[in-house]
Amino acid sequence: MRESILISKSRYLAGLQCPKRLWLETHRPELAPPRSPAVERVLAQGWEVGLRARELFPDGILLEEDPRLLAEARAAARKAMEEGARVLFEATFVHGEAMARTDILVRNGDGTWDLLEVKASTKVKPEHVPDLALQVHVCEGAGLAIRRAVLLHLNRNCRHPDLPNLFVEDDLSEPARRLLPSLEGNLARFRDLLDRKEEPEVRLGSHCFSPGDCPFFDNCARLWKLPDPSVFDIPHLAAERRDALIERGILSLEDVPPDTELGGPGERFLRLYRAGTREIDLPGIRAWLSALRFPIHFLDFETDAPAIPRLPGLGPYGKMPFQFSLQVLTGDGRLEEAPGFLHQDLGDPRPGIARALLEQIGEEGSLVAYNAPFEKGVIRELALALPDLAEPLDRLNGRFADLLDVFRNHYFDPAFKGSNSIKSVLPVLCPDLSYTDLDVRNGQDAQAAWARLIATENPEEKGRLSKALKEYCGLDTMAMVRLYRSLRNLAD
Ligand code: SF4
Repeated sequence: MRESILISKSRYLAGLQCPKRLWLETHRPELAPPRSPAVERVLAQGWEVGLRARELFPDGILLEEDPRLLAEARAAARKAMEEGARVLFEATFVHGEAMARTDILVRNGDGTWDLLEVKASTKVKPEHVPDLALQVHVCEGAGLAIRRAVLLHLNRNCRHPDLPNLFVEDDLSEPARRLLPSLEGNLARFRDLLDRKEEPEVRLGSHCFSPGDCPFFDNCARLWKLPDPSVFDIPHLAAERRDALIERGILSLEDVPPDTELGGPGERFLRLYRAGTREIDLPGIRAWLSALRFPIHFLDFETDAPAIPRLPGLGPYGKMPFQFSLQVLTGDGRLEEAPGFLHQDLGDPRPGIARALLEQIGEEGSLVAYNAPFEKGVIRELALALPDLAEPLDRLNGRFADLLDVFRNHYFDPAFKGSNSIKSVLPVLCPDLSYTDLDVRNGQDAQAAWARLIATENPEEKGRLSKALKEYCGLDTMAMVRLYRSLRNLAD
């Protein structure tokens, strides 16, 4: 048996998403871009959650054999079972041409086993079921009697420091077993596919983003000569409608038939795109501007959301603000950059950030954010965590105006490519401001950079990361100032 064509859990799930993804991951992995720091961080968090789950089974035996050395890994699992191990971590099994490295196996009193798959999610997702089904198939094929197939995932109701209930179990035995009859057929199909020398031809479609973003999208987009913009940029278009267009070979916006039902936002986007014009509701923009009070505080937070909470009161993926930047515009047109805040060690950032926020914002004027419910949510969480400061913090929340509202309700430009995020709007209205030259370019990069910043003891590394984070967060608030000024010019 050629080990290269053994179908693992991840290959099986890749094949269910798209046969081409399975083929590329197996034979041409170099066509995917290198993992971003943000993806690396997600993987690291998953690893950390897996380690935490093992602590629930102090008598567990970790089988550390490299799963690529298949014979050794299988022999180690067999030996540990024969020697009476009650709990096994990372036991490897093979059946036919499928393999599974199980997260946790627990022996029951009657000799059967419970199979536990550990996930860093806070709920069961559809893709977890075939993942477990493949493991049941392999384990039972290898001679184990599986009593239960269980997803062990993070408990969204858990709150630090009460971490003994960090995990909850969901018994997925029934739905996983229901998939077993289709599994042999899928495995045979995937095996044939992997034996082919040529990659399969698969059209782009919504499957490229579900259940997760396919890392080969840029590669496939090049092959299919995906124009920019394309049908993927039509806002709020239902997946099946987009797929129906692609099925007919329609990728370019020019080729979308005029009678296609796209829904309100999609139809407006296409109408403006075709006319080469934008739609601006000046009275709406003026009303939004006139509600602002000076000094106007342009505020942006960066937050982390660790899978395993490490601060009192936080649950899994609870938001933990670690940085803000602030620009203050006075009524006479003066713009001042406030010191802002960046927490730089492993302690609790919340008291420092809350105090800095109150000191730097003061009692007068509006607060402007892009997608203000996020900033307001962060401040509300700070108020809950710090009862002494709750009152002034809650008062801040009554002073927000949301700049996103303007681009959601009053300003439409097809050049935003169907999105109203600040990163889509900014290059059109303020082309000289760009995120592309920064080391930290988005919120996930910022989380990854901050995780490194607070962990490192190296002053040079700390300085470099701190500078990169300040540049990124500062650009977010400067972008808001520039957008505000563009709107003001337009309104005047
Ligand atoms: S980008 Fe889409 S078509 Fe290409 S391999 Fe990925 S899922 Fe398949």
